[in-house]
Amino acid sequence: MRRYEATREIMNAIGDELVVCNIGHPSQEVFTLRDRPENFYMFGSMGLASSIGLGLAMARDRKVVALDGDGSVAMNMGTLATIGLARPKNYTLVIVDNRSYGSTGFQRSFTADNLRLEEVARGSGVESVAVVDRQAEIAPTLTRLLGEDGPHVLVVKCEPGMPEGIGVIPIDGMEVRDRFMAAVASGRRGSDPARTRGIRSLA
Ligand SMILES: [Mg+2]
Repeated sequence: MRRYEATREIMNAIGDELVVCNIGHPSQEVFTLRDRPENFYMFGSMGLASSIGLGLAMARDRKVVALDGDGSVAMNMGTLATIGLARPKNYTLVIVDNRSYGSTGFQRSFTADNLRLEEVARGSGVESVAVVDRQAEIAPTLTRLLGEDGPHVLVVKCEPGMPEGIGVIPIDGMEVRDRFMAAVASGRRGSDPARTRGIRSLA
């Protein structure tokens, strides 16, 4: 199973959740598999999908799924500490761990060697951490998590590589932004401080 096959299972499990997707090939694969206005594709800011998703979850009373990669989470690992502190119930971070930097040629990443992001998540105070490595487990696991209070971190272990023919996203960043903002605005508005614990101690 490569990221593409894992992403297909992930997107099959998505209902009306807002999805923030990592820059590069991950966003291109999501666009190819299941484009929808509720998807926010990143065209920059490598490493920040999990942080953008976290902020969105804290600001809106909607379920938010951030779809991120091992290399990106490794370069912004403080995001796990922040999720463990803020603990928004409506947030799920999915880390597709292919042990490589896929968008730059599949060079080996930290998770090919010393880094276990699920352990970092647990050590950051995230109580709901799941790891799956079988394709058939992905959709049922994500569906279950999305039905329970979070925050959740789901690590999907897969192999490097991607299919031929995944093209660039043919709509520009401003259109992605505008239609995503409209999709967010069409849902329930407002934040509920009771959904988060502890974040104010950062102020
Ligand atoms: Mg990767």
